[in-house]
Amino acid sequence: MNYSERVKAELKDRYTDQPEFVQAAGEVLDAIQPALDAHPEFEKAALLERLVEPERIVMFRVPWVDDSGKVQVNRGYRIEFNSAIGPYKGGLRLHPSVNLSILKFLGFEQIFKNSLTGLPIGGGKGGSDFDPKGKSDREVMAFCQSFMTELCRHIGADTDVPAGDIGTGAREIGFLFGQYKRIRNEYTGVLTGKGLTWGGSLARTEATGYGLVYFVQNLLESKGDTLSGKRVCISGAGNVAIYAAQKATELGATVLTMSDSTGWVMDPDGIDVDVVKDIKEVRRARISEYVKARPNATYTDGRGVWGVKCDIALPCATQNELDLDDAKALVANGTKVVAEGANMPTTRPATDFLLEQGISFCPGKASNAGGVAVSALEMSQNSERLSWTFDEVDGKLKQIMADIFKNASDAAEKCGKPGNLVVGANVAGFLKVADAMMAQGIV
Ligand code: GLU
Repeated sequence: MNYSERVKAELKDRYTDQPEFVQAAGEVLDAIQPALDAHPEFEKAALLERLVEPERIVMFRVPWVDDSGKVQVNRGYRIEFNSAIGPYKGGLRLHPSVNLSILKFLGFEQIFKNSLTGLPIGGGKGGSDFDPKGKSDREVMAFCQSFMTELCRHIGADTDVPAGDIGTGAREIGFLFGQYKRIRNEYTGVLTGKGLTWGGSLARTEATGYGLVYFVQNLLESKGDTLSGKRVCISGAGNVAIYAAQKATELGATVLTMSDSTGWVMDPDGIDVDVVKDIKEVRRARISEYVKARPNATYTDGRGVWGVKCDIALPCATQNELDLDDAKALVANGTKVVAEGANMPTTRPATDFLLEQGISFCPGKASNAGGVAVSALEMSQNSERLSWTFDEVDGKLKQIMADIFKNASDAAEKCGKPGNLVVGANVAGFLKVADAMMAQGIV
């Protein structure tokens, strides 16, 4: 058994109750073996054994009072996974599915994603099993204030900088920031994704979706192709999906689908992003509402996006949403590119199948890194107490996505796996963190 296989087997035995974490760590460990072969000193320093254990996990109770006067209790978490190259950085997920396994998988992914951005940010993630769906603004505020009352003693602009993720948008970041400032009496860049009047960065809202499309644009350009005229299927209808759809449309593609947890819509004329924004960002309603504004579109309950014929698939909903059957359907329909907008939306068997079939598969830690990259730019702006223009931030985002694509492609080539961006992204992300960990001693 080689080094990565041994560490993977140990993880599987130890964390039988954490399947998502074992899956995410397994993907990284499998991909980086070529880098381990070239660096026998890593095993002597037990580098992987250290890498897979979070530096710190904070778990706490989050009591709050709902609108009927009843006391509710949720579980709150912050995984401070790795600070070798910068303060812990990563979002807060608010969703009923949140547990230790999911947050450890997300925090682990974040280490390599953040490293790939080329910016000085470590890996972290947090959240709660609180479900903002269907809650009043006052209930969301009560939850956020209680959550931050505990979290504020563990985070800080130079320590750990949370942000949004599923269920945590501008509204939640606002309530969290307000409570942090009130308790700590300091105005710092302790959270990213802030509003534009109170320290937020232009283009942060758009960054993950735009970055995803810039990444695909780089990939297509490397093959002498463009997005113009391409049919694109997108899953999800959150922040990532909406701005991916907007940018893909702007660059000449036709976006055929979007979805939420209840069902999906297909619009043969191309998704109207303004309609989706109104449904999701203003009214917080179901995607089924879409057909009222767009009579040529169809709505179907349940899942089904990956059965629609397309050139490019952008899974932007959640983990493990694209399985082996979906991957087979995409290949049968002639899809050439699958680029992850969500974190680990493709199951491992589906990923392996797509790679075997020669599909250009872009792992989320590379292709969705634009969001956290602009978060790091928000931190820079907060530190220098200046704000950059939209074009300045968007220009930097474009360059960062181009660099990630190039670094991942070059690393894949160096490992003898040209075109395999899973190997390339993991190796490139890992080597920077590994170098920093080696330099900093046994900590
Ligand atoms: N939640 C996003 C991600 O998965 C963004 C994190 C951040 O901006 O810190 O990368």
